[in-house]
Amino acid sequence: MSVCRYEYDVVVVGAGHAGTEAALAAARMGAHVALLTTNLDTVAQMSCNPAIGGVAKGHIVREVDALGGAMGRAIDATGIQFRLLNRRKGPAMHSPRAQADKRAYQTEIKRIIESQENLDLRQETVLDLLTEGAGDHVRVTGVRAGGGSLYLAPAVILATGTFLQALMHTGETKTPGGRAGEGTTESLSQSLLRLGFQVLRFKTGTPARLNGRTIDYAQTQEQPGDDDPQPFSFLTGKLQVQQLPCWITYTNAQVHELIRANLHRAPMYSGQIRSSGPRYCPSIEDKVVRFADKPQHQLFLEPEGRDTREVYVNGLPTSLPRDVQDQMIHLIAGCQRAHIMRYGYAIEYDYCPPDQLRPTLETKRVSGLFFAGQINGTTGYEEAAAQGLIAGANAALKLQGREALILGRDQAYIGVLIDDLVTCGVDEPYRMFTSRAEYRLLLRQDNADRRLTPWGRDTGLVDADRALRWEQKEAEIARVTQVLQAHRVEGVTLAKYLQRPEIAWADITARLPELAAVQREVVEQVVYDIKYAGYVMRQQEQVARQKRLADRRIPENFDYSAISHLRTEARQKLARIQPVNLAQASRISGVTPADLALLLAHLEGKLGQKSRDWNS
Ligand code: FAD
Repeated sequence: MSVCRYEYDVVVVGAGHAGTEAALAAARMGAHVALLTTNLDTVAQMSCNPAIGGVAKGHIVREVDALGGAMGRAIDATGIQFRLLNRRKGPAMHSPRAQADKRAYQTEIKRIIESQENLDLRQETVLDLLTEGAGDHVRVTGVRAGGGSLYLAPAVILATGTFLQALMHTGETKTPGGRAGEGTTESLSQSLLRLGFQVLRFKTGTPARLNGRTIDYAQTQEQPGDDDPQPFSFLTGKLQVQQLPCWITYTNAQVHELIRANLHRAPMYSGQIRSSGPRYCPSIEDKVVRFADKPQHQLFLEPEGRDTREVYVNGLPTSLPRDVQDQMIHLIAGCQRAHIMRYGYAIEYDYCPPDQLRPTLETKRVSGLFFAGQINGTTGYEEAAAQGLIAGANAALKLQGREALILGRDQAYIGVLIDDLVTCGVDEPYRMFTSRAEYRLLLRQDNADRRLTPWGRDTGLVDADRALRWEQKEAEIARVTQVLQAHRVEGVTLAKYLQRPEIAWADITARLPELAAVQREVVEQVVYDIKYAGYVMRQQEQVARQKRLADRRIPENFDYSAISHLRTEARQKLARIQPVNLAQASRISGVTPADLALLLAHLEGKLGQKSRDWNS
């Protein structure tokens, strides 16, 4: 039998949220890319909730968009409800979220992929990784797919999500598969183990989906979208969308009683599942046990699309058996007669602890092999998309012999995400929160394009149209700021006047009507630049202090055993993580300031001299 051989620059395995952005990013940068996925009808499928964005996740989508990614444009084109969360808090906390039309979103992402030059999307199941070399010099050469087809490439990105040795649990029933109705990938885990990677297990869960025709919405509370829906993408002008409402209901004492009586049938409590799950997104059984004094938990009934009556019960992930799920749903206000269309389930899957990666998302063990998405122990479509984009860009940059794209913690939530993963690893599924970012005021969702589009332009991730729009917006921000500095009121410039907490943009346009026509996105930047200038400057000073550490680079494959007085714990951790600079080294848990002082002294060739306090 003849074996088919295909040659590419980059092969991406898995067309989920990570794989699609990875393939698009590499292709936009000129690499010839194959995107291989088990089923073309599940490209960019939302395994769980039909929504994009949310607190901190919305920031990530804006950043992915600012770097030319597809997620923001796709949700703008297919969303059915848009809300800006945390509106009452300061701008650093504002986070866009949209309810997706799940099918339409997938179709839109698939359309974007199919239209992308240099990118071939193919239905293939990848069975094995091809490598050459040994010891510290192993490099990837491609993958072997079903039927023996070989896809040869110097860079491979694994973005296989929850599909590695995946097992679904609904009560006592166990079914192999990475998502309801789909299969699992067994052999890739074996390839990874053979190559010496550490492979561990995590779990997550999903709730039941109901037939909306059988829900009595009169017993629930309507939650409409925003009156002035705001887009995710910096390319989308005004959103013209007919929005659908979501509905709020609650669990109650009877539901909790039922769950308690059936805990022994919930795989997590019966000992059937032992791996860790996401703490912030617990199953309903978990919530009832952990928050035993809470009389009710809020649930959102979310439509899965415009052309379907299927409704997602947000807040009720469960692994309880079907009969208990039926009873539980029928005890909830509005759902007494509801029909379950798909039952909830928990899923266990393999992931690779991400401290095995460089900040480029290339593995330390196998040159040219990158991991992105849930395989790295994260959860969430947005976290996956961000990693995909960075892995795809770095695969292309590596092949082009160019400098890697590594975003700092002060530049992007994406930088925070990847630094957390590769520096600290994970002990539970990782999701992004605003609290993980120390420079929140700099990393606002509204300024993602100002922070990142110039990088996108320089790397080739962003096309000329997007770069031009960014330049025009910057020019307009500068013009309006100048107008505010040139006009005076009550003895001060309008810019100074606007700094006063009680003064809003409307007060400015009342005095200078020519500014009334300025676009909302420009006004927002001008106002924040002026009102928050002091806070922003303080954060920038902190960044500058931290940068001194970041500038002290540590050579690749640095030999920590050569630092004789370094504590064993620090030596082992530094050798495993291989930080790229002192700033990253300082964030490794268990590495103390004294260890860093020794490292610094060694790097400067001053060992033996009195260690200097590099923090000062
Ligand atoms: P996926 O979206 O899983 O995509 C992986 C892709 O790889 C799939 O298309 C698959 O077909 C393909 N693939 C796998 N193996 C191969 C192979 N060998 N060859 C070719 N193609 C392959 N996230 C949350 O934020 N909150 C939640 O509450 C939540 N609940 C979840 C519940 C369940 C039951 C599941 C399954 C996931 C849940 N998630 C949740 C996680 C969310 O779905 C993922 O974080 C996100 O989809 C990860 O994106 P990804 O691209 O890494 O992987």
